[in-house]
Amino acid sequence: ERLALQKREKPRLGIMGGTFDPIHYGHLVAAEMARAKFKLSKVLFIPTGTPPHKHRKDISAGPMRYEMVRRAIEDNEFFEISSLEIEREGPSYTVDTLRILHRTYPEHELYFITGSDALLEIFSWREAEEILRLIQFIGAARPGFDARDFFLKVQEEHPDTQEKIHYLEVPALAISSTDIRSRVQCGEPIRYLLPEAVRLYLEEMKLYVNK
Ligand code: ATP
Ligand code: MG
Repeated sequence: ERLALQKREKPRLGIMGGTFDPIHYGHLVAAEMARAKFKLSKVLFIPTGTPPHKHRKDISAGPMRYEMVRRAIEDNEFFEISSLEIEREGPSYTVDTLRILHRTYPEHELYFITGSDALLEIFSWREAEEILRLIQFIGAARPGFDARDFFLKVQEEHPDTQEKIHYLEVPALAISSTDIRSRVQCGEPIRYLLPEAVRLYLEEMKLYVNK
């Protein structure tokens, strides 16, 4: 009887957006810890199309970044991949993607997972207010990006959004795609920074060698 009275909770969907050029263990650890802590029924990885905030012009082709993510998440039954953004022409804004996901998953509560570097920027995203109406944020700790001032600022300047932005402590990994790309270029090792299947793929495709 009491059980029947309990409010049934909506299933929660995690969304992990990124350039993933290449995907590495920093992304995977953040997604997995967020999944467990926030009881997400799954995490959808969405490689970006032409990212509006990235000034790098030599981003690897969408299908290659898609393939690396596919290989990286293959062995996790809770992880899925979406080609929503790479199939769209031109830059994709997060707000547009979220509108689509909101329609696709009307029964779900959406949680956007970011590293603390990306979290610090969210209020500068196009239609930030609308984004915060559609979803909640999970900001995972990332070495070098302290989010404490950010949370103070949210408290002062955007108090209404406070309970929609969560902080997640994760075993911090000082791994970045930028560092991996430059390591490849310099002939330095990248093994153990990313899944072996991804390392083999970028070796096979000769990614990042001459950039
Ligand atoms: P780049 O160096 O090219 O910017 P990146 O390593 O930052 O690559 P992105 O694809 O830009 O990876 O990041 C996608 C998302 O994953 C962002 O929200 C970012 O903050 C988060 N992220 C990336 N690396 C880490 C990490 N080591 N720990 C926690 N979060 C991370
Ligand atoms: Mg980045």
